[in-house]
Amino acid sequence: MDLRLKDKVVLVTAASRGLGYATAYALAQEGANIALCARNEAQLTPAAQRLADETGVEVLPIVADVADANAGDRLAAMTLENFGRIDALFINAGGPPPGKFLDLRANDWDAAINLTIQSAVRLAYAVIPVMRQQNEGSLLFNTSVTVKHPLDNLILSNSLRLAIVGLVKSLSIELGPNNIRVNAIGPGWTRTERVDQLLGDRAARNGTTPEAEAEKIAAAIPLGRIAEPEEYGRVAAFLLSPAASYVTGVTLLVDGGLSRAVM
Ligand code: NAD
Repeated sequence: MDLRLKDKVVLVTAASRGLGYATAYALAQEGANIALCARNEAQLTPAAQRLADETGVEVLPIVADVADANAGDRLAAMTLENFGRIDALFINAGGPPPGKFLDLRANDWDAAINLTIQSAVRLAYAVIPVMRQQNEGSLLFNTSVTVKHPLDNLILSNSLRLAIVGLVKSLSIELGPNNIRVNAIGPGWTRTERVDQLLGDRAARNGTTPEAEAEKIAAAIPLGRIAEPEEYGRVAAFLLSPAASYVTGVTLLVDGGLSRAVM
């Protein structure tokens, strides 16, 4: 199937590694040019170079912390200045810290709201006017399986990511007449550095090893294993692409069947 991404322009945030990079890679393999954002220049520069070398597309690296108030505007402006349009936007950020309710304080919630909700809202405000002018566009918000299936010790993710699901549904209704599609994707356990940190955290709490924790997790997943980032990237690239032209307002789990919710 042709995803019809050749020469499209996609802004991919939080993407020097992990799910963001896997998404950028899948898009670039289909011929899309990429604006690639991450906080750390020392990691972003080689990631952008590798992406360009291996796929042959144009890659614009932009150092930005999406938690900063002006990051959305700056990312949209730099992408537009370089490429002249923005066909699709992948909205991602680092995960909020783990913890149970009483491990955290109210100011931890403020920081997590800024990182998980406000960063996404600011990016959407910056890019939607561009897409409205184009009368075409696609937004994909990264969330988590926690929107259907709360995970232990992740109360910030379990709570705050639901706001993105509501936002996605409302935006899909508001922006459908502008030919702009809006979707979300909810990864389950996928082997990235973030997950390595969470496995270490669980091992420390339970007095086990990260590998023992990984085995426990895999045992609860119908497909019996933790995912590879590429398995997520392919689904994200499809939802962002014109090949998904009649899909909007959806939050799609890529969780190996972990969530037992029927709907
Ligand atoms: P990761 O730590 O492997 O990679 C995160 C990437 O985002 C890195 O490139 C990092 O530089 C960049 N980044 C982090 N914070 C940023 C910020 N404020 N501004 C700009 N760039 C930033 O993490 P990952 O596993 O790819 O996770 C990405 C998101 O998906 C997180 O929110 C995570 O909680 C969520 N998630 C991951 C999984 C999983 O199993 N990997 C499952 C559910 C949800």
